[in-house]
Amino acid sequence: MSENKKIWLSPPHMCGKELEYVQDAFASNWIAPLGSYVNRFEKDICSYVGIQHAAALSSGTAAMHLALKIRGVKKGDYVICPSFTFSASANPVIYENAIPVFVDSETNTWNMDANLLAEAIEFCIQKKNKKPAAIIVVHLYGMPANMHDIIIVSNKYEIPIIEDAAESLGSKYKDQYTGTFGVLNILSFNGNKIITTSGGGALISNNKDYIETAKFLATQARDKAPHYEHSQIGYNYRLSNICAAIGVGQMTVLEERIQQRRNNFNTYSSALNDLNGISFLKEKTGYFSNRWLTTILIDETKTNGISNTDIRLQLEQQNIEARPLWKPLHLQPVFKHHPKFVNGTSEKLFNSGLCLPSGSDLSQQNLTHIIAVIKSGLEPSKSLK
Ligand SMILES: *Cc1c(COP(=O)(O)O)cnc(C)c1O
Repeated sequence: MSENKKIWLSPPHMCGKELEYVQDAFASNWIAPLGSYVNRFEKDICSYVGIQHAAALSSGTAAMHLALKIRGVKKGDYVICPSFTFSASANPVIYENAIPVFVDSETNTWNMDANLLAEAIEFCIQKKNKKPAAIIVVHLYGMPANMHDIIIVSNKYEIPIIEDAAESLGSKYKDQYTGTFGVLNILSFNGNKIITTSGGGALISNNKDYIETAKFLATQARDKAPHYEHSQIGYNYRLSNICAAIGVGQMTVLEERIQQRRNNFNTYSSALNDLNGISFLKEKTGYFSNRWLTTILIDETKTNGISNTDIRLQLEQQNIEARPLWKPLHLQPVFKHHPKFVNGTSEKLFNSGLCLPSGSDLSQQNLTHIIAVIKSGLEPSKSLK
């Protein structure tokens, strides 16, 4: 193990303002899941992405759970979900005893393939006599999904889109921010995301009633009464004012964080793209990625058998954290019995891909070092010891 300070995959990156805001929240004794920073954070999110309403919540997963609840997803309903994503995209479907139907990726964006999506919907309608209740669209690693084609399918079958923009805050599809296409959309401010509140999320929408309902359900579903009166089951899902204060600070540097992450991508790709067997996911016309994580694919047939695992272990030896891509959900033990529409893309990506360190605090020196380790890993005879 190298003596060097560990380089993490995607660590939190504070700017200094966060602590000022947290101290201010302390001074006013608003340490509760309510308070002025919650409201301000919600406003900041809305004005950044261009949407009307937001509910700041304790996690992105909680936001997805409420999105499904608000759309009335219930036991036995089908919900379409990409296979190539983090399990939190699909877990809330199970919380509601609904059935996820997994749809594989297209190679252009690595996100949901619109043709397979249509096939999956046809299956639910023709074979099961039940139209899916929602289509969850994920913009993985920050790359927007092909919204044009997905919206055509959504409109044709009149099935609403719920966007999981947990990884793609600041990404745009045809100049429109991700997280603003669906009827309800989720963001995450978990510690590893592009900006963080230590833990947190948001549900955002142009539908005022939806967001009011979200806030109601997220605060234990209290009816209007002086005592505690409940006619529905509620949740404790609100974001605390302290976490929101961190979020308000982080929003002031979001634009910078996007530039820093995009710079990581550009540095990696200009150094490594010409090497045999290494490739990057390009932005097609109309796509703008926040480049939350820079990912590479390693084609073993062109690297003398050196695999993504070999490179990952090589980096680990130098105290550098790299990770495999998300393992497709249709291959996860807990989801493998659910319906799936696969074309092999996500499985192939999982088998050959690698996420490189992508923090917005990486120095040029860090990047040069990581690139050198990867290059030497591709030449096993000269590997760094
Ligand atoms: C992080 C993430 C989530 C969940 O967000 P949390 O705030 O951690 O609950 C959901 N979907 C995707 C794609 C994510 O990366």
